[in-house]
Amino acid sequence: MNYLLLLIATLPLLAQEKIKPEMTELWDPIPKVINPGNHSTPPSDAIILFDGSDLSQWIKSGSVEQAHWQINSDGSMTVQKGGGIETKEEFGSVQLHVEWRTPEKVKGDGQGRGNSGVYFQKVYEVQVLDSYNNRTYSNGQAASIYKQSIPLVNATRPPGEWQSYDIIFNEPQYDQKGNRIKKGSFTVFHNGVLVQNNVEIQGTTVYTGQPQLRDIKTPKRLYLQDHGNPVSYRNIWLRKL
Ligand code: MG
Repeated sequence: MNYLLLLIATLPLLAQEKIKPEMTELWDPIPKVINPGNHSTPPSDAIILFDGSDLSQWIKSGSVEQAHWQINSDGSMTVQKGGGIETKEEFGSVQLHVEWRTPEKVKGDGQGRGNSGVYFQKVYEVQVLDSYNNRTYSNGQAASIYKQSIPLVNATRPPGEWQSYDIIFNEPQYDQKGNRIKKGSFTVFHNGVLVQNNVEIQGTTVYTGQPQLRDIKTPKRLYLQDHGNPVSYRNIWLRKL
């Protein structure tokens, strides 16, 4: 009996002897070689949405007109009255890099201080706000998924300084009839610090009421918000996932 037990106990070991390290090596596919860039330059496979030279990738939101925001001599652009701007192109799941700056001269408070926003597919907002010593509702401060998810920490730099978001957006999946078949997710780094860790997107980020299903007719454009504050942006690029 003891011999039988020993044999049974040893069988998996005997089987394992035939397994070689090579058997778990995957050689295909070979990841495409890219140049990763550095802090000031995008990776070589990125789509450049704004590099400071022009707004050719952007239109005035809801129109066919060229984007009207002001381009500055330092390679940035600033929100102008008359509405937000959106990309001409539509995007599904992406990795986005964007840098932003709230006005050095502090004006207003709460949601009225340095408010803008980065919207994916025009309906999912990652909040841009001057959240440096500026209390507001936590799920509406900088780096919140607006009214859905509070950032893990407040990594905000002082007003007037450039800040960055690196965002992984996995788009929610809808069928042709507009039924949601899978929720999407956000992962957000604010100034290099993880602030949203694979957070499920509950629906559109509305100001009043609960998150809604996305209208599938809405173009999947990236949208930057005009909230009446002169927030600036620079170095905007994304990679399709
Ligand atoms: Mg906003």
